[in-house]
This record gives sequence, C-alpha cells and structure tokens, in this order.
Amino acid sequence: MTAATVKVKAKSITLHNLGFPRIGNKRELKFAQESYWKGETNAEQLLATAAQLRRKNWQWQQGLDWVPVGDFSLYDQVLDTSFALGNLPKRVANLSGSELDNYFRVARGRSVNDSACQCVHAGEMTKWFDTNYHYIVPEVTADTTFSLNSERLLAQLAEAKAQGVNAKPVIIGPVTYLWLCKEKDASDRLTLLAQLLPVYQQLLAELAEAGADWVQLDEPVLVTELDANWQAAFAIAYQALANTVHKHPVKLLLATYFGTLADNLTLTVNLPVAGIHYDAVRGRAELPTLLAALPADKVLSLGVIDGRNIWKTDLTATLDYLQPLVADLGERLWLAPSCSLLHVPVDLANEEKLDGDILSWLAFARQKLAELLLLGKALNDGRDSVATALADNVKAVNSRRNSTRVHNPAVKAAVNSITAAQGKRVSGYTERAEKQAQHLQLPLYPTTTIGSFPQTKAIRQARLAFKKHSISLAEYQAKMKAEIEYSIREQEKLGLDVLVHGEAERNDMVEYFGEQLEGYAFSQFGWVQSYGSRCVKPPILFGDISRPQPMTVAWITFAQSLTDKPMKGMLTGPVTILNWSFVRDDQSRRQSCLQLALAVRQEVQDLEAAGVNVIQIDEAALREGLPLRKADWQHYLDWAVEAFRISANGVKDETQIHTHMCYSEFNDIIAAIADMDADVITIETSRSDMELLDVFEEFAYPNQIGPGVYDIHSPNTPTQAQIIKLMQKAAERIPAQRLWVNPDCGLKTRQWAEVIPALQNMVAAAKALRSA
Ligand code: GLN
Ligand code: ZN
Repeated sequence: MTAATVKVKAKSITLHNLGFPRIGNKRELKFAQESYWKGETNAEQLLATAAQLRRKNWQWQQGLDWVPVGDFSLYDQVLDTSFALGNLPKRVANLSGSELDNYFRVARGRSVNDSACQCVHAGEMTKWFDTNYHYIVPEVTADTTFSLNSERLLAQLAEAKAQGVNAKPVIIGPVTYLWLCKEKDASDRLTLLAQLLPVYQQLLAELAEAGADWVQLDEPVLVTELDANWQAAFAIAYQALANTVHKHPVKLLLATYFGTLADNLTLTVNLPVAGIHYDAVRGRAELPTLLAALPADKVLSLGVIDGRNIWKTDLTATLDYLQPLVADLGERLWLAPSCSLLHVPVDLANEEKLDGDILSWLAFARQKLAELLLLGKALNDGRDSVATALADNVKAVNSRRNSTRVHNPAVKAAVNSITAAQGKRVSGYTERAEKQAQHLQLPLYPTTTIGSFPQTKAIRQARLAFKKHSISLAEYQAKMKAEIEYSIREQEKLGLDVLVHGEAERNDMVEYFGEQLEGYAFSQFGWVQSYGSRCVKPPILFGDISRPQPMTVAWITFAQSLTDKPMKGMLTGPVTILNWSFVRDDQSRRQSCLQLALAVRQEVQDLEAAGVNVIQIDEAALREGLPLRKADWQHYLDWAVEAFRISANGVKDETQIHTHMCYSEFNDIIAAIADMDADVITIETSRSDMELLDVFEEFAYPNQIGPGVYDIHSPNTPTQAQIIKLMQKAAERIPAQRLWVNPDCGLKTRQWAEVIPALQNMVAAAKALRSA
C-alpha cells in the first residue's frame, strides 16, 4: 500500500455531532439567565457568558470533522427558530425594549423582572418528542407571515469560524417546525408551508454565502406517524430546498432521531439531500432495510452512540457491526451520537462521589464524544491503533454486565414468578367500595389534598444542614416531625376528611424513593436541561431493584398517631419512577418497571399492615412514557398498567387505593386509566373548567374521581362559588357519590398563607354541596 492510499483511507470516516448541552459544565447558563432576569447583570454580561460557553463547547468537540453551530440557545432552540423565521406572537409585536426582551417575554412571560416588565402570557411549553426537554410552542394563525432574521445564526457561524471550528450550522427543518406549531385559530398550519419555504431557501442561500459546507436540518418528526399530507410536505419542501442549494452550493444533512422511520423510510431516503442522519441506537433493527433502500449517492450518518442515556457504549460490539458497513459505504459513512447530546449531562469528570464501579460504566456528553473519536480512529487506522482504550472499554462493559450489583437473582426470580393474581384486587370495585365506605365513614364529596404541603424555607434549610452534617439525624427527624405535626393540625382545623402527612421529608418524589432502593445511583452534577433555566438531575437506575427496608412507614404512622382522621399514605408509582430516571439499556423498560412495582408493592403492604387504610400511588408521569408512534402505545400501556396494578393490588378490599396524575388529557388513554383500577383517581382539571371531563360522557369511568378544583400553579385563591361551580359541572358527568374534592396537584410550591384560604374555600364548598 502506498502512503497516498493510506492517507486517503485515514480520512474515510467522517465524525460529527448533532448538538451539545448548552447549560455548561456547572450550569453556568442557568445562573447567567437567572441573574439577568433579576436585573443583577445586563444583556452584555449574559451574552458574554453565552459566548464563553459556546467557545468551551466547541473546544470540547475538537477532533470532530463537523461541529454543530446554532445548537446553543439562550432559552430554547425552537424559540430561536421562531425568531429566525420572524414568527412571533402578535402580543409582543409592539412592546418596547430589545429583541432579547421580546425573546424572554415569549419564553417566560417577561424579560427582566422589573416593575415595567411589560408582561405578556408566555408561550405554551411542551415536551420535545419523548424527551424531558420542553420547547416553546410556536403559534400560527391563518394570517401568519414569515420573514428571515438570520443574524443570530450567521453571527454564531462567523464566531465559530473565527475560532477555527469546522462549523456545521444546525437548524430545525421546515416540516418539523410547522408540525410543532400550534394553530391559534381554525386554520391548518400545513397551508403555511408555501410561505415558509422561501424563508428557509433564503436562509440556506445566506449560509452558503457565509461559507457553510454542510447544513444539518433536524426533522425528527419523520420518526412519527405522518399522514399523506405531511409526507407530501416533505417531498415539496425538500425539492424547494434542493433548488436553492443547486444555485447556492451547500450540502444538506437531513437528521432524524428518536426512533425508526417505518412508513416514512422510502420517503426519507429519497429526499433530494446530500446526506441522512439516522438514529442507529433506537433504529438498529431497521438498519438493514435502510441500507438496502439508501440511494448510492447519499451520505449516511449513523448515530451509534446513545444520546439519550448515560451508559458507556460497547465499542467492540459497535465496531463489529460497523466494519462491514465501512466496506460497503466507504467515505459515505459518517458517525455521530444518535441525537443531540442536549439530553445527557455534560461531563462525568465532575463526579466525585459516584463509586468506582458505577463511574466506570458511565459516559456523559464529553465522554460520548471521546467514544466517537475512538470509533473513528479504530475504523480509520485499525483497532490496534486504539488497543489500550478498547481494552479499557471491554473491561468496563464486562464489569457492568457481570456485576453482582447489577444482577440480583432473587429480584429476577420474583419478577419471573409474578402471577396474574398479584395484579388483581380480591373483589371488584363495587364490593370494595362498600367495604371502604363502611370502614372510612366519609361524607359525600369527601375532601383531601394531593400529598405535599408547602416546602418552607425552614424545611429546605433543615435538609441542607443535615446533608452538610451540621445537624444530626435525630435533630433532622425532629424538625421534620414538627413540620408534619404542623400540617396535620392545620388540616384538622380546615376540616379536611382524609389527611396527608405533607411530604416535608421529601425533596423530590422520585429521588426520595430512589435513594432508598438498591439499584439506584445519584450523580452530583448530572444536570440536564428541562426548560429555560430549569435543569433536572435524573437518578440512575443501574441494577435490579430491591427495597432493603420500609421507606415511608415510619413517617406515615407517626402522622397517623397524631390524628383520628384517616391518613393517606403517599408513594410514587413504578411507572413514574421509571420515566423520570436514566434507565438500564441491558433489559427492557418493562422489566425494570416490574421490579420497581414489586418494591412499591412491599411498601404498600407494609403501610397496610401498619394500619394505613388509604394509600395513594402517584403516577404523575404515566402519560409521558407514551411512545412516539401510536401503534406502540398499547404495548406500553399494557405493561405500565400491569406494573401499577402489581404495586397497588396486594391489599385487602378495605384498603382504599388512590392514584394521582398531573394532567387530564387522557381522552386517548382513558381505557388504560380505568384498567389501573384504583379506587380513587385525582387529576388536574381546574384550569380547563372541567371540560377535560367531557370524555366521561362517553366513557363510563367506573371508580371514584377527584377532579382538581384549585389551580396550584397560580397564587390566586379559588372562591367557594368557583369551586362549587366546578364540582357541579363535574357532577354532570360523574355521579356525585363518586366525586372527591381536592386541589389539582401537590401544594409544595405554594405558601401556607395561600394554601389556607384556598383550602378553607374548598372545604366550605364541599359542605355546601353536601347540603344542597
Ligand atoms: N404527591 C405529590 C405531591 O403532592 C404529587 C406530585 C405530582 O403529582 N407531581 O407533591
Ligand atoms: Zn400532580
């Protein structure tokens, strides 16, 4: 082989990234945003921090052939796109201030928090596909027009180029953008396509002019079920863009991720673009079909490193399946993470407290890019060139695979021997309800709350002091008990019927349980952006789940000892624990969920044995686990409901099981919700004026319901009359004998001074309804 061929070969695999977390290694963006909003810093300082973060992120991506530009955002990339396309809600059009002011107004209702804030109502926020990232929903109407504002993107491109970055601008593709829009009138957003495309064409022309070689267009909507009109929109849109890039040469990389292409596969591979990025982690099984259909002139970027999870990649196994593809595709093969790394924490190197085993199994964003470079080198220069690193990877992967901390035979055996009977109550609802009524002696329209009471400064300080070892466990417990007692006395004064202990001892409804379960680990800095400046630190479910000892019984029985009123024990359900964690990739979600279900079941049974007759199992996140394709919903719902039932149903008829969900758009999953067979379900409904209960006109929900009558997201106090009106509306759809009166959700974010009058009105309303 001549030196020249070696050199060509060494360049054969192109490595790139789709997006990098922008929050910063230590959440610098969050702190910069928040101090700007408070008026402590000015726009210049905020923008300077942003530029520093971008510089750092680009440095960390050195070694890649193409590095994303435009993925950085001061709040949200969908909102950035709306600004770039000139699609702003009319309500901010005539306000004074800078563009940045308007940007934050749409994002969060106001710019800087001053008295002249010119507040507007913030754009609606919703989940970005099946992630826990929330974007600002673009609004459109029949008369929406678009106009290009490319300044931000061009400036960042120039900034990157000045820093020697091999910049690849990243934008949301036109069809996905339109699909994410919400019509504020009776129009059909798809009719706006013809107007939208010229703006994208102009943008591509400008990017070409500015020297971009490749532009990445994100079209994740291709992994969802699209009807014929939306499929046609793709063909139209990309033909239009192809016409532009013909005149203004720049290559388009169409990026899909989060799933398979299925029905959209043929359409996708034949779009007139230079390359396609494909999520080979979630789409692995479909890859042969994709390869067979891929036209011979297209680049194929394979996302082989999981951008949605925190495990190390099995590099050897990945190389084994990539090697034949290299032979087939040659230089047309690119490699990348499966999706933007926005959904994983920044850097594992920050972690000081994770033990060596677990640390060795993990990879955060920076580590994932290192894996990518390794794969590239192994494929370009041979595995020998990275032998040591590959051997280390094998060691880590095997350590996790064989660890006794991951595998607990007793837990696996318990899951394997789950019987149908474990998912069933002794008797049907009607019979149980009678026994519970006898036992609990509750009035008509019983009142309760959803679990938490205000997390006061005193509670947070006590928790922090305990964490920092400046108070003892006994002191901490005494403080929490005092809080519990306080909340019980308040509830008694209010005259609520079923009391709660108030959750003072819990910082977070998943973390609290995760910390007490075997099989969970917690990072110190594993933050992931949820929206704007809000970050979450999902616990890491790494091993078979077991519960060494009761988790809540001492607190609940203490609370019960203080009162003669029934106390509602409060647990987080298995599906919610699962959906808010980083989960295992070595077994199915269902399997992990069933393990969690068995642990929660033990807790439920211990609570019952300790004399707790009402137990609530929160499934706040059940809906968010729904797969992206409707065709996959039923399978998910089947195992999710099964897991809930296993957790809940190991009790006597007399024990009343409640569940709670923080939403009520469950028209489309109502049958599954009914199937959970909880005796009582409490849901969020107050803001929708009970309209969301319309589903019950057609679907005869068999059990009891507490439709929320107090919007806990608002500082406003609902009046007695408002609550009565809401309950009367509810009673039109659900028999009064099966209605409960309660707030929409937990009260932890409110002040006692707000909660007391609201609950006074709620209890008074229930009394008035009873005597009506
Ligand atoms: N029991 C929890 C609470 O009251 C429920 C929270 C939730 O649904 N998100 O805080
Ligand atoms: Zn809730």
